[in-house]
Amino acid sequence: MSMTFAMIKPDAVRAGNAGNIIQRINDSGFTIRAMKLIHMTRPIAEGFYAVHKDRPFFGELVEFMTSGPTVVLALEKENAQQAWRDLMGPTDSTKAPKGTIRGDFGTSMGENASHGSDSDENAKIELSYFFNATEFC
Ligand code: ATP
Ligand code: MG
Repeated sequence: MSMTFAMIKPDAVRAGNAGNIIQRINDSGFTIRAMKLIHMTRPIAEGFYAVHKDRPFFGELVEFMTSGPTVVLALEKENAQQAWRDLMGPTDSTKAPKGTIRGDFGTSMGENASHGSDSDENAKIELSYFFNATEFC
């Protein structure tokens, strides 16, 4: 078993889709080990996406990620990191197949409903960025 970091982004929370996405997480066999609703400040969002700080879309990305609350989660499953990326679908919601989270709840490249760690190593870093040891069940 391994754990990955997942996020339901502000567009999906705003649209009332957090419940639908959590249902899919449960139906897909993940165990939720930690979960909370947070409204990221600018420094928290900038730190989280620091790897993209020189990309042209960085400003837009930080603006979006601070535009409302997000749900942050720790998800456990066999190969959780890849399994959650598969359930989300590709980054660009307009190209994501129906049946994936981004295909069904995202609307564009930027507003794509969810985040998932891109490696086990980054999953550990991202989990500890948002959760204390006492917050895992
Ligand atoms: P995430 O890290 O959010 O799970 P990802 O790993 O699929 O997404 P990244 O390349 O890490 O994709 O990009 C991070 C986020 O930046 C994307 O999810 C999207 O919200 C935004 N983004 C990426 N590329 C663009 C772009 N060309 N224009 C606008 N926003 C973008
Ligand atoms: Mg990424």
